[in-house]
Amino acid sequence: VECGKILTVDNFIERLGSPYCKEDYHRLFSPKCCVCTEPIKDKAINALGKMWHTYCFKCTACACPLEEKNFYEKNGMPYCEKDYMNLFHPKCTGCGLPIAEGRQITAMGKPWHPECFVCTICVKPLQPETFKEHAGKPYCEDDYHKLFSPKCGGCQQPITDKDEKVMVRGKPWHPGCNAAINEPVITVTPAVEPLLQKATRPKVETDIGRKSYPIDDLDSLLPLLDDFVKKSYPDCSGCKTPITDGNKITAMGKPWHPQCFTCDKCVRPL
Ligand SMILES: [Zn+2]
Ligand SMILES: [Zn+2]
Ligand SMILES: [Zn+2]
Ligand SMILES: [Zn+2]
Ligand SMILES: [Zn+2]
Ligand SMILES: [Zn+2]
Ligand SMILES: [Zn+2]
Repeated sequence: VECGKILTVDNFIERLGSPYCKEDYHRLFSPKCCVCTEPIKDKAINALGKMWHTYCFKCTACACPLEEKNFYEKNGMPYCEKDYMNLFHPKCTGCGLPIAEGRQITAMGKPWHPECFVCTICVKPLQPETFKEHAGKPYCEDDYHKLFSPKCGGCQQPITDKDEKVMVRGKPWHPGCNAAINEPVITVTPAVEPLLQKATRPKVETDIGRKSYPIDDLDSLLPLLDDFVKKSYPDCSGCKTPITDGNKITAMGKPWHPQCFTCDKCVRPL
């Protein structure tokens, strides 16, 4: 009924009681492919709310053929899995490969596979909440402290930011390690505070006697402190060790431990 061409019995398609040649039937009534706009005469793919020729339904990036049930969508366009992952998934900072939905962890402001976020030294997996960072690289606590924390002057083990420490001869010590060698800890008293506060230019936090003071140059300060300690804790004239416990007695113009000021003959305290 459309073009006036003569039809044969096996060469027409009927619609609402009227015969059409195949060409006109498809042109008038078949769905049109959203890519090439030609009518779809055989199997159509209905995807993304549009109709497609099976051969027009291709990956937007690599043009590989896609299946109706097996493709990925971005901005209304179909993609194969490989291109979708490559183009639209964040790449792992560790291995450089895309990270699948729901598997990403974020650490140091970058995306990672959980199994790729590991200590730079021992390759143990790290937790984004508890790792340590140095120069843009992640470390476990142990390796971080081994590499970057100051070492105790006694046991040579790292002193972490959580450890208490005391300064002895310009080096940090664990309080326990210091006690083990029985070196007197410089105790900060009201008398020594002005000394410490005098040197306050570039503020570097340092621990002295377990209290923090801003000190610009500990080395130049230590002689002052030594001096102060000598005055506060003079060596006992008997045993020649500092009198640190406050039980100083003065006899014959010299300082003594009470227990060291003894009779030369009978060794009884005087
Ligand atoms: Zn026709
Ligand atoms: Zn098409
Ligand atoms: Zn593709
Ligand atoms: Zn990775
Ligand atoms: Zn490690
Ligand atoms: Zn130590
Ligand atoms: Zn003594």
